[in-house]
Amino acid sequence: MITVEKARNIVAENLKVLDFQQIKLQESAGRVLAEDIPALFPMPRFDNSAMDGFAVRAADTADAGKNNPVMLKMIGGVSAGDPGDLVLESGECAQCMTGAPIPQGSDAVVMVEDTSGYDSGETVEIYLEAYPGKHIRRRGDEIAQGDVLIQKKTRITPAELGTLATFGYSRVRVYRAPKLALVATGDELIKPGQPLKPGQIYNSNLFVFSDLAKRAGAEITMEEIVADDTQALHAFLSQALAECDVVVSSGGVSMGRHDYVREIYMELGVQEHFWKVAQKPGKPLFFGTVADRLIFGLPGNPVSSFIGFMEWVWPALEKMMGVTVSGTIPAVLAEPFPRESVKTRFLFGRAWREEDRLVCAPSSKVGSHMLSSSLDANCIIGSEPGDGPLAAGEHAQVRMLPWKSIP
Ligand code: AMP
Ligand code: MG
Repeated sequence: MITVEKARNIVAENLKVLDFQQIKLQESAGRVLAEDIPALFPMPRFDNSAMDGFAVRAADTADAGKNNPVMLKMIGGVSAGDPGDLVLESGECAQCMTGAPIPQGSDAVVMVEDTSGYDSGETVEIYLEAYPGKHIRRRGDEIAQGDVLIQKKTRITPAELGTLATFGYSRVRVYRAPKLALVATGDELIKPGQPLKPGQIYNSNLFVFSDLAKRAGAEITMEEIVADDTQALHAFLSQALAECDVVVSSGGVSMGRHDYVREIYMELGVQEHFWKVAQKPGKPLFFGTVADRLIFGLPGNPVSSFIGFMEWVWPALEKMMGVTVSGTIPAVLAEPFPRESVKTRFLFGRAWREEDRLVCAPSSKVGSHMLSSSLDANCIIGSEPGDGPLAAGEHAQVRMLPWKSIP
């Protein structure tokens, strides 16, 4: 049995960032940029109107007011999408819609609400004095050409997608998403939707794994329940090792009579880096490699599997995808925490802000079979081994569940 710290170092030593590929923008959500993204042109690209209104020369509107309108000759109109070749002389105005290029010669826009008479199509009364630049979005006032908009290693979310599209990027260079094989082992496992016979249970781990893997940005290429049967395991795992970057199994890796997973990994040439980590839950964690493939054998108890994925597999996927690996943050315990004497202890829990402190409390359900302990959780709380439980007021480490927020 090795310490969590040692085990983490071993995993880190065996990890490589994957190569990159060009993909279509619309397929890039969740992936990680493998290049800095510069602004290909200034934003806005041309001076344009921020309002529906009239382009004017500000000087022509001097002293205009509610009771003192200025009359200007209307020479036409520009809408968003027009090329913007209209030219305005003194004493003239042009209808100008939001996003339309500002006519040459004009230097301000007066809102429709501050005008009248434009229905005639000939003259417009202006009721407000404008100043140069009013309601004009200037070329480059948001972003200069060549500025780095998004840094390499940023994960693509709605903000990045929108920004990339704004600058016309239709393809982006991203790190390859790790190909994942997920397998739940166990003779007792049944798919939800089928009736349970005595002794059987529904497989929940694959559902947890597959959503976690997708959230991490990985690509699931194999996903199956496999019985505790050496042949079936051999068949699935040999294909998984041939086709995938990462294999994650649940169950069959402890000391049970039908725990064949580790044996099959070895048969398939996997180099074992460790098996059994000083942690609770999830002590019989297996980690091995073959070529550049990573193999995580998580024990099958649902909490061991879920927490094991978050603590071991998730950070590895992040690193392989080139993204900054998410870590833990210290938080003050609002309640005692059942620290272990020789093992790192993980429990689902809640974290919240109290004034400027982060406070946390573990779930009262502490069994590794109690998946319902994850329901109200927004984090995993961890403590290093030590003597006796941690008291309220002491610090523990919190790993936020990235899809939950801190109240
Ligand atoms: P194992 O690690 O195979 O000894 O399994 C430990 C416990 O977790 C047993 O009670 C299993 O029935 C349960 N278990 C194993 N795999 C799953 C799964 N995919 N979904 C839910 N429970 C499981
Ligand atoms: Mg089993």
